[in-house]
Amino acid sequence: MVSRIKDQAFNHSRVMEYMHHLADENGPRLAASPGYQRAAQWAVDTLSKDGIESARIEKFGDFGRSWTWSGISVQMIEPQATTLNAVPLAWSSGTDGLITAPVVFAPLWENPRDTAQTDLVKLAERIDAYKNQYAGKLKDKIVLLSGKRPFKLPSEPETQRWSADDLNGMMSARDPRTEDLYEWPLLKVPFKTADRWLMYEMIPAEIQSDYSDRTARLMNRLIEFLNKEQVAAVAMTNTEGNGAVIFAESFGSNLASGPIPAAAVQLMPEHYNRLVRLVQRKVPVSLSIKVDATFPELNAKGKNVIADLPGGSKRREVVMMGAHLDSWHGGTGATDNAAGVAVVMEAMRILKTLDLELDRTVRLGLWDAEEVGHLGSRAYVKEHLGDPRTMKLKSAHETFSVYFNIDTGSGKTRGILTQGNDMVKPIFIELMKPFEEHGISAAVPRNDWGTDHQAFDAVGLPSFNLLQDQLDYWSHTHHSNVDTVDHIVPQDLMVSAAFMASLVYHAAIRDELMPREPLPPPLPKPQPLPEILQD
Ligand SMILES: [Zn+2]
Repeated sequence: MVSRIKDQAFNHSRVMEYMHHLADENGPRLAASPGYQRAAQWAVDTLSKDGIESARIEKFGDFGRSWTWSGISVQMIEPQATTLNAVPLAWSSGTDGLITAPVVFAPLWENPRDTAQTDLVKLAERIDAYKNQYAGKLKDKIVLLSGKRPFKLPSEPETQRWSADDLNGMMSARDPRTEDLYEWPLLKVPFKTADRWLMYEMIPAEIQSDYSDRTARLMNRLIEFLNKEQVAAVAMTNTEGNGAVIFAESFGSNLASGPIPAAAVQLMPEHYNRLVRLVQRKVPVSLSIKVDATFPELNAKGKNVIADLPGGSKRREVVMMGAHLDSWHGGTGATDNAAGVAVVMEAMRILKTLDLELDRTVRLGLWDAEEVGHLGSRAYVKEHLGDPRTMKLKSAHETFSVYFNIDTGSGKTRGILTQGNDMVKPIFIELMKPFEEHGISAAVPRNDWGTDHQAFDAVGLPSFNLLQDQLDYWSHTHHSNVDTVDHIVPQDLMVSAAFMASLVYHAAIRDELMPREPLPPPLPKPQPLPEILQD
């Protein structure tokens, strides 16, 4: 059976055709944007044409504002005329035509490595201090809001595949923790990326989301201040990557209730730093900025794409796979995460084409708004499976077997993170055996976080993210303006698709549901918030 799956995946592949439609033709796919809507409809049409008639859009919640951009121009006027590379930040305003204004350096954090940034009380205090510091000084100015980006020459290779040693290193479990790892609500996380990521491996997804939501609400206080001061525009830069690449997310909120900031642009780090150096030397700097950005819809719904291959003898039981369909907007969202969507759509196509007999129903989920807090997968789980906060469960929870997710770029699958579930380890090792010759072998005893499997994990369902080679995901493409099809390795997607198809097929025909760990408890009552954080 696996050889038939591989034959479809390797000799009749459609992954690059899918990439074309998802990224080149309809990308970027910012949640609720016109590009997202087109891509979601394309996915439904394509699945239907392949004979998967159940493909459908499932709406959820109140996403809020849809936002899209069609052009940007940032010109330095003085002291030298030149063009600066920039991407608008999502959910900020367009400009009213071309605006020209002087530049001021008014960073929220002068040092981009200031560790207070991830402490909500300190962030709130800093925003209050910022208001006192700059009240009356920013009107009609272009505000440089981030500190000067520190540069050092790259010491790590910019593209990377996991070596046998790397994979072996991942086989050791994390040290047991010796103290309470987090408070609830969570009010601070480590600033250092490695420490923060380690913490995120350990804490419930709902608590992480709550922390992100609170951070966004504090940033709204800053935006309200900048609006009141009537700034002309805001410019900032990113700390990711090694320069030349613009990593751009949002400034402002998708929620209909949040304030809408003035035009906010993310500049290429080198161009941004030049502006800061000039201003710090008291050289007058002015820029002309034009941003074409609009809000096509103010109260948009979220839209997941769902499709089923009906099972046979156990058709009420569900094996699910998924990837997020939305992206950021600077590039075309090719590696994040058209790649994952192409893999799971291809796995679905392979199972349908081979007309394999399935005991359980195989379900596909293409999630909306993963980048905005995993909104699509969380809404799906809450609607169909259970509420992670109260742990009130729906009847479908009982018959749900497993969810597999893919969301780490174009890199080849190398294994599966077992999410602390020891019982699945021997099962996964067995299922990876026919793919050892392609480099897939690692059952990593760690938790993955930061993507859609967490929504299922949060209600105690077996749910796993695939381990992939990183390639240039972190150095170049993740949320950047070079997240394009050029950074896709087609062979890697083909291997991942074959493996995903085999994985869900075998999960759909094995005797038992995937073994589960004990259910997590409901979230306890939260501690009261410090006054400065109360809305
Ligand atoms: Zn992603």
